[in-house]
Formats: sequence, structure tokens, C-alpha cells
Amino acid sequence: MLSLLAAHALGGAGTGAAAALRAAAPALLRHLGGAGGAAAGAAAARRGSSWAGFADAPGSQRAGSDVEAQSQSEKAAAMDLVDLSPGLRRAILNPDRKLSVELLVPMDDGGVEIFMAHRVQHNNSRGPFKGGFKFHPSADLEDTEGLASINTWKSAVVNVPFGGAKGGVAVDPSLLSSRELEKLTRKLVGGMHRILGAHTDIPGPDIGTDERVMAWIFDEYSKYEGYSPAVPLHLHGSLGRDGAAGAGAVMGLREFLKRDLLTSINKSTFVVQGFGKVGSSVARHIHEAGGRVVAVADVRGATFNEGGLDVPRLLAHVYRGGTLWDFEGGTPLPSDPDFLAIPCDVLVPAALGGVINARTAPRLQCKAVVEAANAPTTAEGDAILRARGIPVLPDVYANGGGIIVSFFEWVQNLQNFQWDEDEVTRRLDRYMTDAFHDMHRLAKDRGVPLRVGAYMLACSRVASAEKHRGFGA
Ligand code: NAD
Repeated sequence: MLSLLAAHALGGAGTGAAAALRAAAPALLRHLGGAGGAAAGAAAARRGSSWAGFADAPGSQRAGSDVEAQSQSEKAAAMDLVDLSPGLRRAILNPDRKLSVELLVPMDDGGVEIFMAHRVQHNNSRGPFKGGFKFHPSADLEDTEGLASINTWKSAVVNVPFGGAKGGVAVDPSLLSSRELEKLTRKLVGGMHRILGAHTDIPGPDIGTDERVMAWIFDEYSKYEGYSPAVPLHLHGSLGRDGAAGAGAVMGLREFLKRDLLTSINKSTFVVQGFGKVGSSVARHIHEAGGRVVAVADVRGATFNEGGLDVPRLLAHVYRGGTLWDFEGGTPLPSDPDFLAIPCDVLVPAALGGVINARTAPRLQCKAVVEAANAPTTAEGDAILRARGIPVLPDVYANGGGIIVSFFEWVQNLQNFQWDEDEVTRRLDRYMTDAFHDMHRLAKDRGVPLRVGAYMLACSRVASAEKHRGFGA
């Protein structure tokens, strides 16, 4: 069976339980089954949301439109610098297609709930649309549109032949039983399978969608089309897919230090915010390259060791169920905005959006920032860092390793062949290194920050594809 997939963020960060319940309430309580549906909503609410504990996280689940808004001025500057005509600008900014579907899902108690699902295909001039499905209360059409467009720019910066897409279902999956979630996923595929496909639009996991959901998508899609463009990791997933975004960020970091700070990982100190899929991978790869990770934080707490944390021991400790703050090899610290101000050479935000902002940016004591998370720096925060002479390796490039390994997975599955992990790592390094130098060259030639350089690269690549395909002819 031919099967193709992508590696993307699996759930994690989110809003607080109360906020999640508030946001989910309309979907949960809007039902066709009368009292049964209301009871299902109440029962689900009693189960509690897995997004608990994130209530005060600034921008923890930033809408795609907010993330897009943060880079508006850089994108506008980039389009001016690459001299795009107004028509071409409109063509590459507007999404190609938006589909919204109502999913009627029979609930365990006999009631029926309605959930809204969206898929936005932003631009496919460089290759098939590619993007995950996010299951989260904030997943409305606008959010999905913003995230789809980010995927267009990210794929173009790291030069993989994909366009940008995104899917979203307005649901808190932690409030559904496994059976309800499976029915919802199958309804989603039923409503969308016609626009998905290995050569047209390739879905993948994202916030709130895990390997189970991918397996249901795989199975349901196969019933309609005979093969699936999305696969769970244990069925044809690429080796090296886990942690690819973090591994890629450290490859980019290596080039960034060499070029802009005239130093190397093994001579530098690092503070990493977030110890999930991306943050733990970043910390591990920095440690393996001889760098000193002096502090890491997750939502519950942080640990600090000026001499450098023993990251493999810390990972084993967390794997066994330990927390960062009860790790013997470090001093416990609270996970609050002060964490970001710990002195280091490089700060790596790898958790939430919006954490480097007008309040925190003036207090940072680092020489550079590497944005492993999506949109960790607000426009105000960015301006402050620029004024303070702190260079930033931007998210649109830095966490592109995830999409690169998604591309490798697609290639391997098209060939019904699997590369070994060394092969994946070697190729990932080449893509990250080449993209860094393309972005860096453009930025230095025009005297602009790397973020503008990254958008110049993305806009010129997408615009060039549009032109070659006959735009305006
Ligand atoms: P994750 O859910 O695996 O991990 C998130 C981490 O952030 C957890 O350790 C969590 O405890 C921590 N966190 C949450 N709130 C915090 C707070 N207030 N202070 C400190 N830590 C906090 O998510 P992930 O997949 O590692 O994604 C992290 C970021 O990277 C997100 O911005 C995501 O969009 C981005 N990203 C992920 C991938 C990927 O492939 N996973 C790819 C590209 C970008």
C-alpha cells in the first residue's frame, strides 16, 4: 500500500482547562440529539481537558492569523526588496482554496454533536499542498488560513517542493472518548478525501492529533482512494522524523554561530525554553555537539546548572516520570518570564508563541536568539532585539527541519523504500545548511535582518514558480 506522510508538531501546548472548555462549549453543546448531547457535553467537560495548566501562557495557542500578523512588516519589506508586482503579491498572499465541512458525530450517549472542520490550500506553485491537521478549540477558518500560508513560506525557505496547506477541527480532543474521536476523524476524512492525495495535498499530524488519529486517517482514506497520503509513524513513517525540527534547528544554529557570532556550539552556553519534542531534541543535539546547556524549562518548572546540564541523564529522568525541578543534576527554578533572562550565549525558545515581547526583550541577557518555536518573538520584541544588536535566527527557517523530513518521508514512500537514519540526518543537514547560506547571503547583501532575508528567499522562490508556470500569461 502506497502511503505518504509528514512530520509535524503533535499536541502539547495549549490554553487552560477553563479557557479550553469555554471555547469548546459551543461545539460540545450544539447537538442534534437533545438532552443526550448536552449530557455528553457535560460528561466530556467532567473528564477535563488535557490543555490544563497552560492558562497564563502568553500566546500558547496563537491563532495562525496572529502568527502571520507578526511577520507582516518583514514580508512586506521582503516583497518590496524582491520587487514583486501587485498582481503577483496578491496571487502569492491569497489562499488557492478553502473548504469548511460540518462534521456530525454520534456521541457515546446516543446524542449527536456538530464540529466544524477546515482545510485551506494556500499555494501549490512549488509542489503539492502539505500541512497537518490541528484538533484544537482555536482552529477556525482564519487560524487555519494563517497556518497554511506559513507552510508555504517555510517549505520555500528550506527549498522542499511543497506548497502550504493546513487543516483544523474546532474540538478539544481530550474531551472526547477514543471512540468519539475516531468517529470524528473518519467523518473528517469522509468530508475532505476528495481534495487530499499523495500528489495533491498531503496531511500530517499537528497539535492535538497523534499517531492514533493518523492511523484512522490512513485507514479511512484507504477505503475511498485505495492508498493514503498520511501515515502513522509505525506504518511507513521515516526514521529521524521524531525530533527532526530540533535536529534541524541545531544544524542551523551551528552555521549561525560560525557566520554571525564567529564561534561554535562547543564554545557556547545555551538556555532552552520547552522540553517537549522540539526543546528536548534541541538540548540533546547541542549537548552532543559539545555545547553547554545551562538551563531548560517546561510548563511546570526549570532546572539550572552553570557548568552544563547532563542532558542524556535529564532526558532519562524525565522519561522515567521525573520533573525538571526534581532533577538532581541541577538547581530547581520556577518556569516564569525571568527564566528567559538567564545569562547565556544563545537563548532557544522552543515552547510557546509570543514569549519574547515588549516586556521580556529588554531583559534578555543573551548574545543571540534561535527561534525553534513558532512565532516566539512579537513584532515589538523583535524591534527591541534589533535595537539591542541581538541577532535572531527566525522560526520560518530555524524549525524547518520538520517539513524537510516530511518531504523525505514522502519521497521514501513514493519509492516504497526506507533510508537509514544516518542517511536522513545527512540529507537534513544539507538542506538546512544550504538554506541557511541562501538566506544569509540575501540578508547580508541587502543589509536586512535574517527574518527579512528568509521572507525574501521564500517570496522570490514562490513568485518565480508562479511566473514559470505562466502567471500573467
Ligand atoms: P510539545 O508539546 O512537545 O512541547 C512543548 C513544550 O513547551 C513542553 O515541554 C511544555 O511543557 C513547554 N511549555 C509550555 N508552556 C510553557 C511555559 N509557560 N514555560 C516553559 N515551557 C512551557 O511541542 P513541540 O512539538 O515541541 O513544539 C514546540 C514549538 O515548536 C511550538 O511552537 C511548535 O509550533 C513548534 N514546532 C514544532 C515542530 C514539531 O515538529 N514538533 C515543528 C515546527 C515547529
